[in-house]
Amino acid sequence: MDITLDKADAELQRRAREFTEQYLFPLELECEMNDGLSPQATKTVKAAVIEHGFDAINHAQEDGGRALSLFQQILIQEEMGKATGALWDLVWRPSLPMRQASEALKDRYLRPACRGERRDAYAITEEGAGSDTSMIETTATRDGDGWVIHGEKWHVTAGDIADFFLVHALVDGDPAQATVFFVDKDLPGVTKVRTPKYMHTFVYEHPIFAFDDVRVPLDNVLAEVGRGDDLTRDWFVEERLMIAARTVGAAARALDLALDFASGRRAFGRAIVDYQGIEFMLADTAAEIMAAKSLLYRIGQQVAVELDRKQMHAEAAAAKLQCSEMAGRAVDRAVQVFGGRGYMREQPVERLWRELRVDRIWEGTSEIQRVIIGNELKKRGSGVYTGWPD
Ligand SMILES: Cc1cc2nc3c(=O)[nH]c(=O)nc-3n(C[C@H](O)[C@H](O)[C@H](O)COP(=O)(O)OP(=O)(O)OC[C@H]3O[C@@H](n4cnc5c(N)ncnc54)[C@H](O)[C@@H]3O)c2cc1C
Repeated sequence: MDITLDKADAELQRRAREFTEQYLFPLELECEMNDGLSPQATKTVKAAVIEHGFDAINHAQEDGGRALSLFQQILIQEEMGKATGALWDLVWRPSLPMRQASEALKDRYLRPACRGERRDAYAITEEGAGSDTSMIETTATRDGDGWVIHGEKWHVTAGDIADFFLVHALVDGDPAQATVFFVDKDLPGVTKVRTPKYMHTFVYEHPIFAFDDVRVPLDNVLAEVGRGDDLTRDWFVEERLMIAARTVGAAARALDLALDFASGRRAFGRAIVDYQGIEFMLADTAAEIMAAKSLLYRIGQQVAVELDRKQMHAEAAAAKLQCSEMAGRAVDRAVQVFGGRGYMREQPVERLWRELRVDRIWEGTSEIQRVIIGNELKKRGSGVYTGWPD
């Protein structure tokens, strides 16, 4: 498989790099110091997102998206992942499973979300249910002409700015009837319980929300009753590939910063880059980025043309595991190269060090990615990983 970029993809990558450097990097310190951005800064970026064509890149044109392939999305996310403060999340990508919504629901939720007028937040995790979604306790009960949703959701990313949720709930409490519901945030019974503080600075928050007997219309079901696990898995597959892309980009930025610093910083009569102790850290990072990026691009190109769900699930797990673990090592070395400066919040390497930690946790921990890979090995052998079927 040829993983060199064609002209159009190389141009897309260049535009994403330019956008990141021109619009996201200058806002990093404001975001870090103020724990978020001003409405004016957000508005400026939003206009630039549309102008550059990076809005809803993961959705069909008929829904107002840019219909880019998964590989092209990876190229863009790799560049934007270099920015700290999770500023990449200003560039909206409405949750993938919404493409399975009815026309009426697309009109109400997906299409305005693609235009940047509405914002979704995907609410799966609960206090007692994270990796094991069969332990979810949020219920949906049919009542006359609607559903009544009851439960509490944790870590709802962008829940502070979202105006609707995709809530993963069990119809009548039955794990075999897992279903995703559209729930407007302003409905009676939806309340923000609290907004915890996290290790990273994220341009948005991850509040806890309670759904206290919230009534939604009968047709607010995404796709069909009982399809919840499949839909949520589709979301995970896409998000895991995007995490892999962002972490590769972040590691590359950390390497560039560390190389630059090590070339200028002098100790004991020479630039520290000339000490093997430093040089080897940079060399390990460079080689590991090369390996992870090759894997990411290969999987990205493969999933862009093949749509076998099980294989995508298995490969996305390998990409997320390899890239996020690699990036964790890369940013840790970068902090070490920077010495005391590497511990200062004004330095991007410090922020990347904190921010990349969650990439080994969310959208399935590293252990869960290994469980997925292990299951694939047990069911179908090692071919997906070692044989690289063409
Ligand atoms: C900043 C942030 C944002 C998030 N955003 C969202 C969001 O928008 N929507 C949402 O629904 N969720 C979100 N999450 C939740 C996230 O997906 C979960 O935290 C994650 O899936 C892990 O679940 P948990 O925290 O309950 O940990 P647990 O499942 O309790 O796991 C605890 C530990 O046990 C390990 N473990 C569990 N099962 C196994 C096993 N079978 N084998 C080996 N080890 C195992 C885990 O790997 C982990 O180390 C977010 C989390 C964070 C931190």
